[in-house]
Amino acid sequence: MTKASKTKEYQVHPLILGEAQVGSVLDIFWSLTKNVAPVKVPVLAFLIEGGSEPILVDTGMRSADRAMNIHKLGPHSIGEDNTLAAQLARFGYKPEDIKTVLITHLHYDHAGGCEDLPNARIIVQRSELAAAAAPVGPRGLEIGNRELFYDREDIAALVNPLWERVELIEGDVTPFPGIDCILYPDTHTPGSQCIYVNTPDGVVGIVGDIVRKVQLNVGQGIPPGLYYDLEQMLRAMRDIGQRSDLVFPTHDPMVLEEDPEKRLAALRPEKPWP
Ligand SMILES: [Zn+2]
Repeated sequence: MTKASKTKEYQVHPLILGEAQVGSVLDIFWSLTKNVAPVKVPVLAFLIEGGSEPILVDTGMRSADRAMNIHKLGPHSIGEDNTLAAQLARFGYKPEDIKTVLITHLHYDHAGGCEDLPNARIIVQRSELAAAAAPVGPRGLEIGNRELFYDREDIAALVNPLWERVELIEGDVTPFPGIDCILYPDTHTPGSQCIYVNTPDGVVGIVGDIVRKVQLNVGQGIPPGLYYDLEQMLRAMRDIGQRSDLVFPTHDPMVLEEDPEKRLAALRPEKPWP
């Protein structure tokens, strides 16, 4: 396995775009856990600084109400300080300053803010857009419904009016030196990708929702609850563990932990793999 190309070093900052209440069963595959407690998790995106332009990974959710009403999920919220504009302002940027957004996958909590970025090209895997446009959810599912966590307004916006700015990629690409997009087909979604970023702390893997808890999913190799193909998921856990010095899941509060020792202990994958 190769590390992200070492030509450049960046900083990766989490942006807090809201909060969601979900079941902890999502942390373990087939929900094979006795821990079924609901947990509050952040909805994060990531800002990458240090290159020729600020780069955004993911864009949060369109609306908390839609998450609850359409996907039939638990309480969601987006505070005043949790808009994309407010979170970018923490680092001195406006939405129009973002020229590139890399989308890990198109679920409602990752692709809801694309229309708020008037100048960004939107880089996403072709297989992910295709799957999101024609999701495989059975009608009447108690949670998720036929849309299976894709918001049709997000997907409609990408197809038109944002289409001219959508850049579809197929497989692994390096959009900037030191930043790699790696496709993991049929894992959390059909076209989920991880963004590996070279930083002074090593390679940071921005993994979308392929990983929920780093030591559980990557360290122990026990995949999280939602996936399409278990073998692909196991392969992804191993590959993410091998490529990453630090793993940043979208919904793990430990990404925001201020004590650096605790943060590193939670996010630096133990590597049991040969
Ligand atoms: Zn998510």
